[in-house]
Amino acid sequence: MPPLPPENALELRGLTKVYAGGKKALDNVSLDVPRGMIFGLLGPNGAGKSTLINILAGLVNKTAGSAKVWGIDIDVDARAARGAIGIVPQEINFDPFFTPRELLELQAGLYGVPPAERRTAEILAAVGLADKANAYARSLSGGMRRRVLVAKALVHTPPVLILDEPTAGVDIELRQSLWAYVRQLNAKGTTVILTTHYLQEAEELCDRIAIINHGKLVADDSKDALLARVDAKEMRITIDCDLTEVPASLIPFGAKLEASRLLVVPYRPSATKASDILGAVAQSGVGIADLSTRESDLEDVFLQLVRQAA
Ligand code: ADP
Ligand code: MG
Repeated sequence: MPPLPPENALELRGLTKVYAGGKKALDNVSLDVPRGMIFGLLGPNGAGKSTLINILAGLVNKTAGSAKVWGIDIDVDARAARGAIGIVPQEINFDPFFTPRELLELQAGLYGVPPAERRTAEILAAVGLADKANAYARSLSGGMRRRVLVAKALVHTPPVLILDEPTAGVDIELRQSLWAYVRQLNAKGTTVILTTHYLQEAEELCDRIAIINHGKLVADDSKDALLARVDAKEMRITIDCDLTEVPASLIPFGAKLEASRLLVVPYRPSATKASDILGAVAQSGVGIADLSTRESDLEDVFLQLVRQAA
């Protein structure tokens, strides 16, 4: 009987990387990526995302900590751990004088996939490269080269697929078809980890999102929980008289007096109606001279977390 699949596709404990020269790119990162998810690893440029991925890929040596891929410790069996993941790197890294078919066959050979078990044609068709199978890679567009990278990552049918900024500089059409394909793989059981600095992309695709900044993990939550944090607006009410304290009717709303004529009322649109706040203002007897609302989004939460960690 095959062993049960692990609960977590990825388990990182205290992962730290200090590059030669002293740059600490990862600082004590502990993180679980549950099996079966589309997991987003978010962070601004330079946050340490590629460093993390490259440690798993065996391209960067970690300084401290441990990492398990599909239950396999990279220090115990680096080869088996690498076999459990397919990595789509951030940079195009293949020889432009090979064809997609040759590149996939070479990759399959590297991973010890016997010729009879290779799925070259199937994978090329799945990423929309069937008609380019025999074209020199140098003749392919940037988007098509990226598809080749995705195809290469899949030759050994890994249970975990990691995409490092796969849509940076990629046109919308490819983005859509790439995501459709990633969703399809995920629906069939592949755990997908995707790094990006596009929040919208993560919001659209991911079940769970971790955020790193300056090498530190600053959030790790379900998308819904992160978005619940985003369920926050602010009503800014300029009033027509000077106050020294928040009117009693607005205290239950957690209103603050930011200036003698400026009331700021935070609220969750899902729980509080703007009209309830306005009703409370009317009840207090002060007149409204001006009014605006401010909406937060994932961007705000992100900036807030990133600022806290700085
Ligand atoms: P991200 O992928 O989130 O943009 P990286 O992991 O590429 O971030 O980089 C994290 C930090 O480590 C950055 O400050 C980057 O300049 C630095 N860095 C990355 N690779 C190296 C390297 N080979 N040598 C020294 N510093 C590096
Ligand atoms: Mg990167």
